[in-house]
Amino acid sequence: MPKAQETILEIDLNALKHNFDYLKSKLQPETKFLAVVKAYGYGSDACEIAKHLQELEVDYLAVAYVNEGVLLREAGITKPILVLHPQTVNFKKLIANCLEPSLYNPKVLTEFIAIASKKNQTDYPVHIKFNTGLNRLGFWENDVAFIASKLKQTKTIKVASIFSHLAASEDLTEKEFSLNQIKTFKSITDNFLNIIDYKPVLHLCNTSGILNYPEAHLNMVRSGIGLYGFGNCKKENKHLKPIGTLKTIISQIHQIEKGESVGYNRAFKSNNFLKTATLPIGHADGIGRQYGNGKGFVIINGQKAPIIGNVCMDMIMVNITNIDCKEGDEVIVFGQEATAEALAEVVNTISYELITSISQRVKRIFIK
Ligand SMILES: *Cc1c(COP(=O)(O)O)cnc(C)c1O
Repeated sequence: MPKAQETILEIDLNALKHNFDYLKSKLQPETKFLAVVKAYGYGSDACEIAKHLQELEVDYLAVAYVNEGVLLREAGITKPILVLHPQTVNFKKLIANCLEPSLYNPKVLTEFIAIASKKNQTDYPVHIKFNTGLNRLGFWENDVAFIASKLKQTKTIKVASIFSHLAASEDLTEKEFSLNQIKTFKSITDNFLNIIDYKPVLHLCNTSGILNYPEAHLNMVRSGIGLYGFGNCKKENKHLKPIGTLKTIISQIHQIEKGESVGYNRAFKSNNFLKTATLPIGHADGIGRQYGNGKGFVIINGQKAPIIGNVCMDMIMVNITNIDCKEGDEVIVFGQEATAEALAEVVNTISYELITSISQRVKRIFIK
C-alpha cells in the first residue's frame, strides 16, 4: 500500500474472506451463514462488505434499521436482508425494498400484518424473535399461542425464521446461563414447530456463540464482529484478521519547552522538554475524548506515541519525544498488529464501540 497522506480507513477484503472462511470452517456444511452488516458494516462500509460477501455466497444479511437495508438495496444487493429492529413507521419502506422484519412483540406483529395485507402481500417472509434471557427484544415463551392464532388468521406473512440472541456467549463464566438460553430456545421452537406445518430456519448464535457453542448452531448463525476480525478472546483473535486499519499522518511537529502546555484547557503541562506531533484525527472522527490525556496512543514508525492533553474535534497531539519521525510520516491508529480491541481496552470499552465510531468523513479505501 502507498503511505497514507490523510486520515483513511483501509479495509482489507482479503481479510474479510479469511474471516468468513474461518468462521464457516466451524460450521456443518448445511448450516447457513448470516452476515451482520449493521452500523455501516461495523464502521467499515456496509455496501462494499455486503457486495463482497454476496460474491462469496453468504446466505443472508442483517442490519438493525430499515434505512440501512434500503442503502444495501440501492447498492444492488439482492440477498435476503433481515432487519433486526425495524420501527413500525418504516414498514411500508421495508416492504417496498423487500426487506424482512424481525417481529418481536404483539404490537409489531399485528401492525406488520395490517400494513402488509393492505399492500396485498402473501407469504411475506418475517422473522419471529424470542427473548430467552437478554431481556432486550423478543416475544416471551408464553406468546407462542398468540402468534399461532395470528398466523392461522392470515396468509399475508410466512415465518422465514425463528431466532433469539445470547446475552453472554463470549463469557465462559456465564456458560450455565448460555446453556439455559439454548435450552429455553429449544423448548420454544419445539412448541412453535407443532403449531405450523412448515419448517422455519432456526438461529441463535452470534460470533462468540459460533465459537463457543457448536451445539447451538442450529440451521443458521449470525456473525458480525468475527467477520471484521475480532473473536472476543485471545485464542480466537489469532485465527482472525482485523479488516480495518485506521491510518493518519503527522501534520506538524512542535518542540515544547518545560512549563508550556498543550491543547485545549491546557490539560497537559510539560515538566520537561518534549516533542509533539499533531495528527488530523479527532473526536469527530471517532477517537473520543476519553482517549486523551495519556490513555490512548498511536503507532509511529513502530513505536507507541501516547495522546497528550485533550482530544480536539479534528486533531490530536501525541508525544513523539523518543520517536524518530518527521512531518508527513504515516501514523497507525489501529490495524492488524496494534488492534482496535487493544486500544478500546485502555478506556474500558470493546472493539465494537471503537470501530463503529469511525465517522463517515474518514475516507474508506478497499484492498482486494
Ligand atoms: C449485532 C447482532 C449480532 C452480531 O453479533 P456479533 O457479536 O457481532 O457476532 C447477531 N445477532 C443480533 C440479534 C445482533 O443484534
